Amino acid sequence: RNVELQARKQQAIARGQGNVYPVYVAHAKNAELWDEDGNRYIDMGTGIAVCNTGHAHPKVVAAVREQVEKFSHTCVMVNPYRSAVELAERLNKLVPGESQKKSIFVSTGAEAVENAIKIARAHTGRRGVVAFNGGFHGRTNLAMALTGKITPYKYQFGPFPADIYHVPFPSELHGVSVQDSVKALANLFKVDIAPQDVAAIILEPIQGEGGFYQAPTELLQALRELCDQQGIVLILDEIQTGFGRTGRMFCSEYAGVEADLMTVAKGIAGGFPLAAVVGKAEIMDAPLPGGLGGTYGGSPVGCAAALAVLEVIEEEDLCNRALFVGEKVATALSALKARYPQIIGEIRIKGAMIALELLEEGNPDKPNTALTQAIIAHAAQSGLILLSCGFYGNVIRLLPALTIEESVLDEALGKLSGLFDQL
Ligand code: PLP
Repeated sequence: RNVELQARKQQAIARGQGNVYPVYVAHAKNAELWDEDGNRYIDMGTGIAVCNTGHAHPKVVAAVREQVEKFSHTCVMVNPYRSAVELAERLNKLVPGESQKKSIFVSTGAEAVENAIKIARAHTGRRGVVAFNGGFHGRTNLAMALTGKITPYKYQFGPFPADIYHVPFPSELHGVSVQDSVKALANLFKVDIAPQDVAAIILEPIQGEGGFYQAPTELLQALRELCDQQGIVLILDEIQTGFGRTGRMFCSEYAGVEADLMTVAKGIAGGFPLAAVVGKAEIMDAPLPGGLGGTYGGSPVGCAAALAVLEVIEEEDLCNRALFVGEKVATALSALKARYPQIIGEIRIKGAMIALELLEEGNPDKPNTALTQAIIAHAAQSGLILLSCGFYGNVIRLLPALTIEESVLDEALGKLSGLFDQL
């Protein structure tokens, strides 16, 4: 059935929404999936960092079922409901920092990014936005313009909105220091756009699609200082890093840097399309009524799911569980690297956000995209769902459910190591 459905998909769904391997899901439970042919898989991708509380968590299922039976849509801007207010109140408290916060809801990460930029521009009356090379912010027009990588995210899709600028992201691997990034910003302000014309600087605390490079604390601190001096809005995109994934509710807690605006999505609602911008109340209130959101933004089903997800994260202590999962994986991957030092490069881990870089044998400077793709394809055949990421697509990323059973995690790590032994 997988093969038959893949053939039908290729006829029916355009290749722009292409999938890597033909595993057609019939049902899923916590960290396991079963396909239409009855094959079992361990899901180390969680639908790209979405199902942090696992598939079909009973508490989330119950909350959604209860909500759908009551009503499934009215629109927050027409007839609002209690769950939207309660979720906003919870997010306003959860997002780090002392300032009073407000939220708005949308449906996808890209929309959250678009709305954050709109809010920053409305607040400052300025036009410019600075983003970082290697960053990823989504596939809508403005979010795409902010994204660093051209292919496939931007290729053929121009023209892009004006007034978007990129600077290098610090990376030891690529020889870019925090000072280099800060200097590049200073240079941008001298040559391309005056800081008084810049509305926002946006970045991910850990670049997700970019390959799991963490923004050093000194960079976040330097940006915070610069934004304070120049009246620029600092936007942290925690769409992939949020909701316990890195071992804290939000990754920026590690650096202790408060964003002016934070974008969140993915893990917020366990798989229901919900996203939000959460930020300082005086900035959030800049746009006029009706200027933000959309028909489905803050759907009652999504809000019910999100409230349940937040409860599960707390009750099951999932931030600490992410650290436990990360430590276990780190031990296994270090052992794997000791066995295959010629092809395994950097291992980058923050909680349960785990990247394994693959290089060409005998050529440690060359990313090995073909090997990464081959391992991911073989993994799917042997019952393991893996994802790739990185500028060259040579990074295997592991984003397990934070609720993954220890025995299932051990099994997944055994399978992964077995794949390298078969090379
Ligand atoms: N920002 C980051 C950091 C992401 O990782 C993603 C998705 O991968 C997005 C924005 C876009 O989110 P969505 O695909 O829900 O539009």
